[in-house]
Amino acid sequence: MSYSAIHSKRTSIGVKVGHVKVGGGAPVIVQSMTNTDTADAEATARQCAELAVAGSELVRITVDREESAAAVLAIREKLDKMGVNVPLVGDFHYNGHTLLTAYPDCAEALAKYRINPGNVGFKEKKDRNFATMIEVAIKHNKPIRIGVNWGSLDQAMLTSMMDTNAKLAAPLPARAVMHEAIVQSGIQSALYAEELGLTRDKIIISAKCSEVQDLIAVYRLLASRSDHALHLGLTEAGMGSKGIVASTAALSVLLQEGIGDTIRISLTPEPGGDRTKEVIVAQEILQTMGLRAFAPMVIACPGCGRTTSTVFQELAQDIQTYVRARMPEWREAYPGFENLSLAVMGCIVNGPGESKHADIGISLPGTGELPSAPIYIDGKKVKTLRGENISAQFQDIVEDYVKQRWG
Ligand code: SF4
Repeated sequence: MSYSAIHSKRTSIGVKVGHVKVGGGAPVIVQSMTNTDTADAEATARQCAELAVAGSELVRITVDREESAAAVLAIREKLDKMGVNVPLVGDFHYNGHTLLTAYPDCAEALAKYRINPGNVGFKEKKDRNFATMIEVAIKHNKPIRIGVNWGSLDQAMLTSMMDTNAKLAAPLPARAVMHEAIVQSGIQSALYAEELGLTRDKIIISAKCSEVQDLIAVYRLLASRSDHALHLGLTEAGMGSKGIVASTAALSVLLQEGIGDTIRISLTPEPGGDRTKEVIVAQEILQTMGLRAFAPMVIACPGCGRTTSTVFQELAQDIQTYVRARMPEWREAYPGFENLSLAVMGCIVNGPGESKHADIGISLPGTGELPSAPIYIDGKKVKTLRGENISAQFQDIVEDYVKQRWG
């Protein structure tokens, strides 16, 4: 199914975040979040740039205290100097009303404010603080995200809904009431922002949970009751393969139903790990679902008893690394290159067949096969590689192909 056919299942109101359009039929936008101390403008600008270069179309930074708010303009200016125009989103909790009011440069430099309705204050202060942030958004003509998170759900609202439910003749399960509370928190906050004068084309909603089935249930409810643009993500997805698998499982179900206008993958990095991993995973989810193309796809067989050496694993890794390294330059020089497909196959069983389906394929010799590697381009065998430097030769072939086809 084509992108437009999938996405047309739900139409949201489009929201402009800086120069990036979210919802309203636009492609699903990839975003990410820094984990530097925002008060350290140098480190934060550097990481924002890394995330943007990896393909993040929006980058969120936490604005948690005065020093952070004071650094936001410097971060924006550093990025502009580097030629990185990625819009910055400010993440506010507890004191956003104070920081946005006290630091107008910060309010202006940000392209969107994330407001968590569970973390804006208690009782009468809650509405007042929320209203202050909306007033700042209107004054600076900025959109917001109402970012509900079940870990910080408005407890007064949840308790009241649980009490009402308990009095029903046939009470709903507690989990269903919690889903309803998450959705209500998002929609009621959005409607309140609209009452205060912020238009719907300035409001994105998210309602994040950390369990796959909860997330799917909550977003289905949200999507059925609202036409706001939706930010989608499994919160606290976790580390390594667990975080990737859980995020993919949840998001692919929803995206397939046309739910979700922008996504963020909340991966916990390994100590010292690369933050850009979350961007690559988000892109790979969208690309493998056929929703968007970001980078050439490398198809590689898993290997089996027919491949007793690691040659083809090394080649698959080399070519993946090569393609990623070349992307910034290819993006500028060869628009369309992201649709390139490559196949790296371990033996003759599926090698030639799979290689013919890719733009460029290589079928390596399995155990007992002749030490040669036929190359297929656009479905035809064009040459055979031999010798020690097959990886370098293959990279040259890929580089030439990209130049000729998209140059
Ligand atoms: S292509 Fe060959 S090496 Fe790769 S999984 Fe299939 S049989 Fe095994």
